[in-house]
Amino acid sequence: MTEKIPTRPFSELRPLLKDKKLSDVALIEKAYHFARKAHEGQERKNGEPYFNHVFACAKNVAELNMDTHTICAALLHDVLEDCPHVTEEEFKKEFGEDITFLVNSVTKLSKLKYQGAERHVESLRKFFIAMAKDIRVVVIKLADRLHNIQTLQFVKKEKQARIALETLEIHARLADRLGIATLKGALEDYAFPYVYPAEHKKVLKLLQTRKQDDEEHVQKMFKKLKRKLAEQSIKTSISYRAKHLFSLWKKLARYDMDINKIYDLIAVRIIVESVEDCYRALGIIHKNWRPIPGRIKDYIAVPKPNGYQSLHTTIFTGDGSTVEIQIRTQKMHDEAEYGIASHLMYKELGKDSRLSEEISKNTPWIQQLLRWQEDVGSHELMDMLKSEVFDKRVFVLTPKGEVVDLPRGATPVDFAFAIHSDIGNHLASVKVNGKMATLSTPLNSSDIVEIETKESAKPSRKWLEYVKTSDARRQIQQFLEQK
Ligand code: MN
Repeated sequence: MTEKIPTRPFSELRPLLKDKKLSDVALIEKAYHFARKAHEGQERKNGEPYFNHVFACAKNVAELNMDTHTICAALLHDVLEDCPHVTEEEFKKEFGEDITFLVNSVTKLSKLKYQGAERHVESLRKFFIAMAKDIRVVVIKLADRLHNIQTLQFVKKEKQARIALETLEIHARLADRLGIATLKGALEDYAFPYVYPAEHKKVLKLLQTRKQDDEEHVQKMFKKLKRKLAEQSIKTSISYRAKHLFSLWKKLARYDMDINKIYDLIAVRIIVESVEDCYRALGIIHKNWRPIPGRIKDYIAVPKPNGYQSLHTTIFTGDGSTVEIQIRTQKMHDEAEYGIASHLMYKELGKDSRLSEEISKNTPWIQQLLRWQEDVGSHELMDMLKSEVFDKRVFVLTPKGEVVDLPRGATPVDFAFAIHSDIGNHLASVKVNGKMATLSTPLNSSDIVEIETKESAKPSRKWLEYVKTSDARRQIQQFLEQK
C-alpha cells in the first residue's frame, strides 16, 4: 500500500502571519478551510491532495509579506475554475469583491488558446493587462508557477522542457523586471536543469571544487563577524546565501567558465537599523579583515541606476577564501529582494486596491506596454518585448538627476520623447555629460543628457533610422503623417 501524502495543515502558514491582525488571520483561515473543502477528493499527478498546490502557492505569497486578500486569493486561486459546485455568487458573498476580482483575474491569466511562440505572446499580453490593473494578480501567478516548476518531475517528460522554457522566458523575466529577486532566482534555478541539463551538471561540478572549503571558512568568519558587531552594540540580522545557480552559470560564461574568478559565490548579508550603522559595520569589518581593493562599493551614497542601495565589500577570510559582504537597512533589503512587491508589503489594502493600481500607473513601462498591446500585432509585440523590456536597459539622467529608463542603444531622440512629446517634437540639439553630441549617439547608463529645444525645430525622417523605442518611432511617424 502506498502511503498517502497528508493535507498540509494551517499551522504551517501561521508563522508567516505573525504581523497580521487577528481578524485578518481569521479570514485567511476561512479561505484555507473553504479551499480545502472545495478541492476535496482532487489529486495532483503525484497522488498528493490538490489542495497542497494552492497551499504552497499561498505560502510563497505570504513569504513576500503580501496583504491578507492576496494570500486568501492564492489559497482560492483554482476554486472558481476547478470546482463546479462553487458558484461565483456564493464565492463573492463569502469573500467579497476584491478577492473575487483577484481570483477571476488569475483564472483568466491561465486560459490560453494558442501553442508555440504565439502562446508566449498571448500569455505576455494577458500578463500586461493584469499587471496594469493590479500587480497582486501577477504576484499570485508567479507564486503559482513557482510551485508548478518545483513539482515539474511529476509532469510528463515531453511537457517538462516546454514548461521550464516558458518559465525562463516569461515568468522569471517578469519577476526580474518587477524587481522581485527572490522569485526570479527560484524560478530560474528550478527551470535550469530542464532547459539546459548539460550546463546545469557542469556548474554543479565546478561548484563542487570550491564549495566545501568555502563554506567552512565562511562559517568561521561569520561567527567572528557576529561577535564583533555585537561587541560594538550594532543590532543586526545577518545571514549568508550561495549565489543562485542559473545566475552563476550566466556569470561564469562571462568569465571563461573559471570559478576562481567569481567573488560572490557566497554573500553575507548584514541588515542593520540605520544608515549610520551600515558605515559603522563596514568599518568594523575592514578593521578585522583585509578587503580586496576595487571591490568596495558605496551604493548607499551612489545608488545603482535601478535604485539599489547597499554597501558592498569583498574580504579575505584569512583561510584562502574570499567572501562578499552586503550591508543594508531593512528598507533597502526589501526593495532589493522584493522590488515592486515591496511597496505592497506589510500593508493591508482592504476593500479597494488603489495602492496596487497606483503602482501600476506609476510604472511607466507597464503603461507603455498596455498601450502597445492594444495597437500592434503579435510579431511586433514579441519584437518589442525582446528589445525593450527584457534586453539590457540603460538608465540615463536628466540634468536634475531624474532617471530615465531606456533600452540599450537608445539615443537622445528616444530620451527626448521619453520625457515629453513636446520636447521630442521640438528637439534641436543635445549635450551629453556637458558636451555637444549628435542626436544618433547611443546613450550609456548614468549619462547626463541635456536637451535643447527650439520652437522652430521639428522631427526629421532621418531619426527613424536610429531611434530604439517604439514610443519615439510612433510619435515621429505621427508627426510626419500630419504634415
Ligand atoms: Mn494553480
